[in-house]
Amino acid sequence: MLGQMMTTPLLISSLVEHAERYHAQTAITSVNTGGGVEETTWGQVGRNARKLASALHGLGLSPQARCGTIAWNNRRHLEVYFATSGAGFVCHTINPRLFPEQLVYIINHAEDDVLFIDSTFVPLVAAIRDQLSTLKHIVLMEADIGDAAGHLPEIIPYEVLLARGDDGYDWPVFDELTASSLCYTSGTTGHPKGVLFSHRSTVLHSMALNLKDSAGFSAMDVVLPVVPMFHVNAWGSPYACAMVGSAMVLPGPGLDGASLVALIDRYKVSVALGVPTIWLGLLAAARDCGTRLGSLKRTIVGGSACPPSMMTAFREEYGIETIHAWGMTEMSPVGSVNQPLAKHLSMPAATLHRLRENQGRPPWGVELALVGENGNRLPEDGKTQGDLLVRGHFILEAYFHMSTEETLQDGWFNTGDVATIDADGYLTIMDRSKDIIKSGGEWISSVALENIAIAHPALADAAVIGVAHPKWDERPVLVAVAAPEQEPTETEVLHIFEGKIAHWQIPDRVVFAESLPRNATGKVLKRDLRETYKSLLTS
Ligand code: ADP
Repeated sequence: MLGQMMTTPLLISSLVEHAERYHAQTAITSVNTGGGVEETTWGQVGRNARKLASALHGLGLSPQARCGTIAWNNRRHLEVYFATSGAGFVCHTINPRLFPEQLVYIINHAEDDVLFIDSTFVPLVAAIRDQLSTLKHIVLMEADIGDAAGHLPEIIPYEVLLARGDDGYDWPVFDELTASSLCYTSGTTGHPKGVLFSHRSTVLHSMALNLKDSAGFSAMDVVLPVVPMFHVNAWGSPYACAMVGSAMVLPGPGLDGASLVALIDRYKVSVALGVPTIWLGLLAAARDCGTRLGSLKRTIVGGSACPPSMMTAFREEYGIETIHAWGMTEMSPVGSVNQPLAKHLSMPAATLHRLRENQGRPPWGVELALVGENGNRLPEDGKTQGDLLVRGHFILEAYFHMSTEETLQDGWFNTGDVATIDADGYLTIMDRSKDIIKSGGEWISSVALENIAIAHPALADAAVIGVAHPKWDERPVLVAVAAPEQEPTETEVLHIFEGKIAHWQIPDRVVFAESLPRNATGKVLKRDLRETYKSLLTS
C-alpha cells in the first residue's frame, strides 16, 4: 500500500453532526406557525434530529421510504430535513401552492409513507386524504393536536412522535450515492417531474454554495432563508449553514415585507436569500418604517432575473450588496453566482455595478455549454445567444422514475434557458427558450424589457410576452401593473423605453392588469398571459 486518506461517505448526517458538536450554542430562531418566536440552537436541532430519526425507524419504515413535508420554514422542518435523510429515508418537500390535483399526483407518484404538515395545511390535506393511496402516517408539526384531529383522525403531534425517539441514536453509515431528498419541479406543462438528490450531491452542493465566491456562509453569519424550504430545499441553505455553523432565522408563514424587516433588525440577519418579488415588498416596508437594515450585508437573489433597479436600491439606499444567482431544481439548484474577479476591482464603479447585474459565473462543480439549434457548440463571446446546457457534480442525471435517455442530451442537461456566456464564464440569461420573442427573425429578450419597465416608479410589476403579429410573426407586448396611486397611460409607459434599447425592440402595446398571474414558485405564468392577449395585434 502506498498509504492514502480515509474514505468516509459524504452523508447529510455529517453536516448536522458537525453543527451539533461544534456549533451547539449557535442560535436557530424560528417563527412558529401557531405564532410566537422560538429560539433554539444547532445543539438542540441536532439532538432532536437524531431522536426523530430513531422514532421514524420505530414506525417501521423501509430504507428510502419517502417522508413528505408540507411546511413553512421553521425549526421542526429543519429537524425533519436532517432526521429523514440522515436515517436513510428520503425527505420529500412539497409546495403547498400547487393545485390539489398536482399535490395528489406528486404524493402518489413519490409514494410517500409519511407526511409532516404545518397546521396551516391541515384543511388542504384533509380535502385530498382519501386519494393518497400510499400514505400511512400524518404528523402535525405542533406540540399539541389542537382541532386537527377533527379533520384528520389519524394525525399525531410532532412532539409526541419525537418523545418516542432515543436521543442516544447514532447516525447510520451507508453509501453516499443513496437518495436523500426529492423535489418536484413546478411543471408549467405536463405533470411535475421529480428531482431526486443524493447525499453526495447535497454535500458537494453545500461546499460549492459555501465558497467565498458563492454564497460564502460562515460561522459569523446569521442567515435568513426567505426562499421556502419547499423550493429546492431553500436553495440548499439549511445544509450549507449546518456545514459551517451559521446561525439561522427561519421566518415561518409571514413573508410580507414588514415581518421580514422586523426579523432582520431584531435578530441581526447578515445574509438573506429569496426571489425578486419578495425583495420588492421588503424594500417598500423598509422605506415605510425608516429602518437602515444595518445588520444586512448581502442578499442573494435568484429564481427569476433580478432587476438592476433593485440592486441599485439595495446598494445606494442601504449599502447592501446584491448577489445575483441563477439555477434550477435540476441543479440543486445553484448554477451560477455573480461575484467579481480580481481584475474587475480596478474598474470604474459604474462599470463594476453593471457587471454585477448578470447571472454570474459557475462555481466549481458546474460546467456550462452553449449550443445552437443543431446541437453545435457556439462561441462564448458574451454576444452569441444559444441554448444553455449544464453538467456537473450536483446536476440531475434522470428524473425520478425516468431514464437518463429521457433526461439528458449527449450527457448534458438542457436547462431550457437561452443565454450568452462570456470568456470568463459570466452568464446572461436572455429568457426561457419558450418565452423569448421572435420578431422578424430577430430575438428579443423579454427579461431585458421587463428590467427597464420595472425600474420606472409608475410601475409596480411588468411582464413582456410575444404576441402573434401578421407581419413580424411575434411582437412584444408589455403587461404592466401600475404602482399604488399611479395611473400611467400607454404612451407614457412606451416612452420609458426610448433611448434605452433599439427602437425595433420597443413593445408594440402596453396593457394594464391588476396583478400578474404567478406559479407556485413565484414565476410569472407567461403562458396564461399569452393566451389572454393572443389576438391583441391581429384583431
Ligand atoms: P426553481 O424551482 O429553482 O425556480 P425552476 O426549475 O422552477 O427552478 O426554474 C428554473 C428557471 O428559473 C431557470 O431555468 C431560469 O429560467 C429561471 N431563473 C432562475 N434564476 C434566474 C435568474 N437569476 N435570472 C433569470 N432566470 C432565472
